[in-house]
Amino acid sequence: MTEKKNYGFTTTILHNDRQKGIEHGSLHKPIHTSVAFGYADARQLASVFQGKEPGFRYGRQGNPTVSALEDKVNKMEQGVATLCFATGMGAIGAVFQGLLRAGDHVVSSSFLFGNTNSLWQTVAGQGASVDFVDATDVANVAAAIKPDTRIVFVETIANPRTQVADLKRIGQLCQERGILYIVDNTMTTPYLFLPKSVGAGLVVNALTKSIGGHGNALGGSLTDTGAYDWTRFPNIYENYKKAAPAQWGITQIRAKGLRDFGASLGPEAAHHIAVGAETLALRMERTCANALALAELLESDERVAAVYYPGLKSHPQHAISSELFRRHGSLLSFELKDGIDCFDFLNRLKLAVPASNLGDTRTLIIPVAHTIFFEMGAERRASMGIAESLIRVSVGIEDTADLLDDFACALEGC
Ligand SMILES: *Cc1c(COP(=O)(O)O)cnc(C)c1O
Repeated sequence: MTEKKNYGFTTTILHNDRQKGIEHGSLHKPIHTSVAFGYADARQLASVFQGKEPGFRYGRQGNPTVSALEDKVNKMEQGVATLCFATGMGAIGAVFQGLLRAGDHVVSSSFLFGNTNSLWQTVAGQGASVDFVDATDVANVAAAIKPDTRIVFVETIANPRTQVADLKRIGQLCQERGILYIVDNTMTTPYLFLPKSVGAGLVVNALTKSIGGHGNALGGSLTDTGAYDWTRFPNIYENYKKAAPAQWGITQIRAKGLRDFGASLGPEAAHHIAVGAETLALRMERTCANALALAELLESDERVAAVYYPGLKSHPQHAISSELFRRHGSLLSFELKDGIDCFDFLNRLKLAVPASNLGDTRTLIIPVAHTIFFEMGAERRASMGIAESLIRVSVGIEDTADLLDDFACALEGC
């Protein structure tokens, strides 16, 4: 099969492994479990180590099955290079380990995945400083930038309150200031949105979520989109400046963030994620349609105090979401009116499962303040717009009528 450049999103993923030829005519890249890779000529081993020719050395730095997944994610994000990690947090941690030094400054959206928020607190304790801003307005980001700001970090649709960052204008600002712009694309996935289109230099995906899609494997990725000029980044070590500047960032992250900290993705998980990714577009179409239908049902119910979903006209960033994203995502959250016990409500649901993952094929539901945002305390929750009664729903691919019926029934009290 000869490579053609203009296949659609799903066709590209389905046939990507075969483009490079696979032994025995396998249609999937096999699960290679070998830790070490041997060479008949010892000189070749040396030149692979020195980066003079491509090849695998040791499983922590690279593996053929993982590399096949990296290639797919890279095509999805239309990137220059992609690295995979054991988890989404492994990928975000590698940014901090690989790129920041003491004295550096980071501007981060305050509407963040809970563990990313906790990680930035760690960074702050280790000598870099972090300012959290309301990233739905670029003016707040601009006001926080200092001479030593190295990174601006945002999520596309924030989990769990679904605020949409001012993605395009923040991209323009970072471009003007020469600051690395990092976008966590987990909530939108490359099927709904390409952060490269708004100037993001690095893209994070928690592959655990919608890309893998079945809640059976953890993984994360970082994609260099090619949009950032690494010659403007002061923290690249001389050692990693040997290749063209487009390679500097990913080379340093591979060495400092992946190799030295070791959050490497295992080949079995890479295989599960790659198989899941084949149906990403189909699943996203279904979950996004289900999420919109459920958001509309909840919004029209008098027992519901508030619904947060970018697909609703009442959502403050509905216009930006409509402009930038193919659909509005599969995550929504809502608050029940005072007097309705949220645990009793959750216990009445028969299909939606109380569980903390998201982007699964099944609908998962969680009371946010009591679980995933419990550790940060009431004050920080309030500053992030997290009401104590907030319930997050990660909408699955169930038949729409069954899903709506489950929620309608639980609201009725049946
Ligand atoms: C889940 C998630 C992560 C972390 O991914 P893990 O694979 O669970 O480590 C990062 N960012 C967002 C937006 C997420 O939802």
